Amino acid sequence: MYKSLYPWQGRLLGELSKMRDRLPNGAIVYGPRGIGTFEIVEEFAKGLLCEAPNPDGSPCGKCAGCLLARAGNHPDMRYVLSEAEALPRGLPYEPPSASGTRKNLIRDILIHQPRALADFLSLAPHRSRVRVVLVYPADRIRPDAASVFLKMLEEPPEGVVFLMVAEDIDAVLPTIRSRSRLIRATPPSREESVAWLRGKGVKDPEEALLRAGGMPVSVFETDPGRELSEEDLEALLSLLSLSGDPGDYPRRVVAEVKKEWPLGAVAVALERWGWDLAAVSRGLPPRYFPREKAVLAKLASKLRRDPFFSWQKEVLALRAVSDHPLNAKLAAEQILLSYPRSFGL
Ligand SMILES: [Zn+2]
Repeated sequence: MYKSLYPWQGRLLGELSKMRDRLPNGAIVYGPRGIGTFEIVEEFAKGLLCEAPNPDGSPCGKCAGCLLARAGNHPDMRYVLSEAEALPRGLPYEPPSASGTRKNLIRDILIHQPRALADFLSLAPHRSRVRVVLVYPADRIRPDAASVFLKMLEEPPEGVVFLMVAEDIDAVLPTIRSRSRLIRATPPSREESVAWLRGKGVKDPEEALLRAGGMPVSVFETDPGRELSEEDLEALLSLLSLSGDPGDYPRRVVAEVKKEWPLGAVAVALERWGWDLAAVSRGLPPRYFPREKAVLAKLASKLRRDPFFSWQKEVLALRAVSDHPLNAKLAAEQILLSYPRSFGL
């Protein structure tokens, strides 16, 4: 059985499973945001890479293929997601070079992303019979990037399937659409949604569903559109630079973290800071905070691998719980308080 992500997924999984034995080169699953479509398609992709799938095609969850896929490391799977979809899910994302200090998450798929697939597509599958490319959102592919995808769909490499997810099918390039199998994802009924939300412990599920535009998964989505102000970002960066007396740091954290800071935005900034620290420690230039190059270099020289990895994991976990308004300040404080351990402080 497929992991029961969402009770309304049955029909879509059935549709996807029908393709299993004769996979198309491309498929686009489309439907409204906030019903978990990407997660369902991802689960289907994992079933394709499983080395001992269940009779219905669902992943066994135990084989080497499943473990690699769960860790986001399967050599036959690539994620091509916009930054705004990848970062909140903790999925791999390679920022464009020289992206500079941006406040906004990039919502489009940019040309460097399909280009980075060239090597992947030219190789034979490593472990499985197929290679899978997950693309989301397929209705937000910049035109130059879309023509790269189109070429891949026109001359499909052996054993590669592009699984694309889109909200607005009409916004997908017609030539990409015409070369893909189209599958519609339908939202659950109001009753199904309310029951599911209640099961998740949401106190007033009717009200929550209304506020989320009738789409149940959106109830738990943090809005990546909410950002830290310039001033708040400066304050956060100043804390992260660990300048000043280390003994004074905890006091500064408690004094300077504001309870109004959107936790999701804090997590994104921390994730980017971690990305830059890792890059600088490998001798690469920082991509998100180039102005902080000197500070990053100084910190990177003291970086301790294991505590830094655990800290990055904490940051990812923070993304997952992002919107607990009562705990926002506390959660941000905690993660900042454990940050100096990355440098043996
Ligand atoms: Zn498996």
